Amino acid sequence: MTKPEFIFFDIDDTILDHANAQQQALISVHEKYPCLHNTNPDEFRKAFKKVNIGLWHRYSLGEIDRPYLEKHRFTDTFEQLGIPCKFSNGIVQFFMDDYRNHWQWISGARECLVELSQNYRIGFITNGFSEVQKQKAIDFKLDSFSDVLIISEDVGYLKPHPKIFEHAELKASVQPEKILYVGDSYTSDVAGSKNVGWNVAWYSKEDIPNKGIQPDFQFNVFSDLTDFFLNRS
Ligand SMILES: [Mg+2]
Repeated sequence: MTKPEFIFFDIDDTILDHANAQQQALISVHEKYPCLHNTNPDEFRKAFKKVNIGLWHRYSLGEIDRPYLEKHRFTDTFEQLGIPCKFSNGIVQFFMDDYRNHWQWISGARECLVELSQNYRIGFITNGFSEVQKQKAIDFKLDSFSDVLIISEDVGYLKPHPKIFEHAELKASVQPEKILYVGDSYTSDVAGSKNVGWNVAWYSKEDIPNKGIQPDFQFNVFSDLTDFFLNRS
């Protein structure tokens, strides 16, 4: 792998703990709405997660829009579990507000950004809603590392679609082979960025698949990434 000139980071579950924040917000929803009280909270969270993944996939294909996704991740979950809740926009708002209250750094990610940003140009690419992801950038002062923030809703394509990576290349004005991408998702981040000729560091404890697309580097502790790209390992 040649030394990168530019390092793009994924946001959710790479530098910020999205999964835990979503989990906590679903616990809050379960506590707040009495119509959910006869349903096991774990069962509710599991069903929501599964429904949500399916809807995000359909959203990424352009089959459904954002309001449909925001409504149906609740109504489809209710329907599947036979929950007698009536849908209201209040639940969407409550969920998103509570989700924001639980955002936090992934351990070591901030320190890694501080160090790598002294030696490399940095940027961020994220699948998500524009104002939500912009709020994360504000709350965690991501603009102190970079003003390049690429959000799928603004671009009109979600990772792993090549167009979002190509858009990022133009914003960074760097050749693809001189970009390193750091992300946690094998499909969106590893496969997506390798397909457009970038290098990739996979933040994961999972085994690298025997066949198919291979990451250039794998780590599960941020200091390993920092050490490697500052030539300290
Ligand atoms: Mg991610």
